[in-house]
Amino acid sequence: MAQPCVLLKHGELAIKGRNRNIFERQLLRNLKHAVAEVDPNARIERRSGVAVVTASGPQQPLVDRLREVIGISVVQPGYRVPKNPEQAARMVVQMLRERYGGEAAKKFAIKARRRDKAFQMSSSQLAGFIGQRVCDELNWPVDLSNPEVEVFVEVDWREIFISVEHLRGQGGLPVGSSGRALALLSGGYDSPVAAYRMMKRGLRCDFVHFTGAPFTGPSSTYKAYALVRRLNQFQGNSKLHVVPVGKAQRALATAGAGELQIVAQRRLFVRIADVLAQQLNAQALITGDSLGQVSSQTLSNMATTEQASSLPLLRPLVGWDKTEIMNEARRIGTYDISKLPDEDCCSLIMPPQVATRSTVGQLSKVEGRVGVDSLVEQVLANVQVIDLGSSEQPVATCEVDSGSEPEPAAAGARAAGIQGAGLS
Ligand code: ATP
Ligand code: MG
Repeated sequence: MAQPCVLLKHGELAIKGRNRNIFERQLLRNLKHAVAEVDPNARIERRSGVAVVTASGPQQPLVDRLREVIGISVVQPGYRVPKNPEQAARMVVQMLRERYGGEAAKKFAIKARRRDKAFQMSSSQLAGFIGQRVCDELNWPVDLSNPEVEVFVEVDWREIFISVEHLRGQGGLPVGSSGRALALLSGGYDSPVAAYRMMKRGLRCDFVHFTGAPFTGPSSTYKAYALVRRLNQFQGNSKLHVVPVGKAQRALATAGAGELQIVAQRRLFVRIADVLAQQLNAQALITGDSLGQVSSQTLSNMATTEQASSLPLLRPLVGWDKTEIMNEARRIGTYDISKLPDEDCCSLIMPPQVATRSTVGQLSKVEGRVGVDSLVEQVLANVQVIDLGSSEQPVATCEVDSGSEPEPAAAGARAAGIQGAGLS
């Protein structure tokens, strides 16, 4: 009767008003891809405000995978039972016995809520009814203000969901719902975090990595590849564009960039990325700059760098300090990759003094001497593309039931203005 399943909450989509359907559809597509990777025969059902995934095999790998899908704020593994208070109570007791059998009595609370407001009991009546059964059968004390175990009981349109785990998901907006951007990915700590933060605002990211080839080895490319593989968990189908700029960097040095070398290189990166982005239909560039972190990231140098891009240059970490960035890198699993040693193209040519102030006029002079437009063209003739989507993506065969709540209950709920009732 009871069936294991995973309940998913959308979080921020709740406030998306009329566009909510577009966001939900995008999330469902992303969900389908992610689920298919670990359990191609799983079943996904869409309800208003929530989604329910039923595994065809072990549930844990599915739960782990679902926690990585951007746009999902809460992942609740548990059970679904028929819409009947008696069956719900029986299942709660059984679930607590299975999970805590043999342990000392725990202070507990039942948190009940209803998406179907026409259900025969109010939320507090249902919580009281189930709570009484737990007291009677397990001899556990109720403690609503400081429980050791919280049991979530949610009355949906077709069934009741029960769970004791309320796991945090990534939150944010589904990848792809805000458009597309090209992320400039070095091997450092900052840029992968920057890309992730923009994915969380709904941008699908392509990646570009600049190497000092032919004057540096492939180590930075391996790192960039490993980083994209990790970030690919959050969006799927990622592409990494590897661009050798060693000769172009030398050309800037030969043209006398001097203490402007680093900023001149940054502008070159941005120019190249700008052309590439337009080829890829991306509407913005992303970098991991953080104000004042290094000399190339002073306000003055950031302004001269930005001027070289025709697309908006997004810098989600501009107000973050290094500790915040490192913590986020640990959380998203890029830290251990970023800390590996590599031969970074930026350290290929290091002037003894790096300018903390620069003007577009100064840089235009250097760029004029070097013939920057043809330099960009030459560099772009040697781009290598690594596609992480095509070979690794299993066919998404999982079944999707996109039916929402059954009519006419849905109409009633909508009329009562409670469509978002299931969202937390
Ligand atoms: P990161 O940790 O991301 O390397 P950083 O603190 O080392 O950042 P910089 O080296 O000044 O800062 O780079 C600033 C930004 O420029 C990076 O966050 C990244 O977006 C971009 N960038 C720098 N080097 C490269 C590169 N080799 N390939 C692609 N993008 C780069
Ligand atoms: Mg760097």
